[in-house]
Amino acid sequence: MSRRGPSTRATHAGLPAPEQGAPFLPGPVLAAPFHLSGEIGDVPGYNRDGNPTWALYEQGLAEFEGVDVVLFSSGMAAVHAALETTLRPGDVLVAPSDGYRGLRGIARDHLEPRGIEVRLVPTDDAAVRAALPGATAVFLESPSNPGLNVVDIAAIARDTDAFVAVDNTLAGALHQNVFELGADMAVVSATKYLNGHSDLNMGYVATRDAAKLRAWRILTGALPGPFETWLAHRALPTYPLRLERQMANARALADMLAERPEVSDVRYPGLGAVVVFTLESAAAGQRFLAACELVIEATSFGGLHTSAERRERWGDDVAEGFIRFSCGIEDTADLLADVGRGLDVLRST
Ligand code: PLP
Repeated sequence: MSRRGPSTRATHAGLPAPEQGAPFLPGPVLAAPFHLSGEIGDVPGYNRDGNPTWALYEQGLAEFEGVDVVLFSSGMAAVHAALETTLRPGDVLVAPSDGYRGLRGIARDHLEPRGIEVRLVPTDDAAVRAALPGATAVFLESPSNPGLNVVDIAAIARDTDAFVAVDNTLAGALHQNVFELGADMAVVSATKYLNGHSDLNMGYVATRDAAKLRAWRILTGALPGPFETWLAHRALPTYPLRLERQMANARALADMLAERPEVSDVRYPGLGAVVVFTLESAAAGQRFLAACELVIEATSFGGLHTSAERRERWGDDVAEGFIRFSCGIEDTADLLADVGRGLDVLRST
């Protein structure tokens, strides 16, 4: 199956063997306890221990990762699980100073008080390398959110003995398989591109050794809802198709923005469908967002509706006019025309 094309694989990923009269993708198994009489066997007796709906989606995601996948209730639950099952007191973690803020919160409030040294460095090859001596683990986010900085994951993994985990939310396993690049663990917020419909939170950790993560999920109870899991699985077949259009839109938008005098610092690394750029001021950013009809002002990214926001409003270390723009699946010409009109408004005021 893995030699077939991405849409073929996504369409069939995680489907059970055909059964006469059964649906292709079985409906969500909603239960807290399951029937469990006598001896405890392999089937879950309680939903915190396991759920058949999770198992199918995990198998589907494993098709793209090439290793075991453990599902969590959100991307943050997955990040937390990855860190806590990997690090012990006395360990040294290298982590991004410019990546998703949730990781820094965990580092400050939960890792450092437990005696784990955290070295925060920008997503930059030289900066990561300089921090590596003595590190037990390195957590990368490439491209990083929101700056879209990238590092050479393969080179870092090759040159360090430290455990290498990558938050691969922005690129996704379809376009950047971090295990092929030598990493030991991937963390993904499925809330973004994978589910892509902006209607649930979910996350997963992919790893060759899932036992500790499964135990962590049972103990912390960071469980995905079976119904949400089923929705996310239902969205998996369209994931490559959605990304194809979203990335085509991102490329076209980045090219168009590069020609516009109102815009500076356009960035699109060619992975995922987030484009970032800077407008003159906070006011210009807000005027632009208000003037676009197709661009929903919202946080998050990766959904099939185009959305954007001014990241400085959350306190990110970016210019006031910095826009994180997430391309949806709208027709490219319509999207470019809408953004063009939004920028025209800045000229006329
Ligand atoms: N990792 C990255 C790179 C993110 O951008 C986010 C959310 O924005 C997360 C993790 C957390 O994901 P969730 O919102 O599903 O908890």
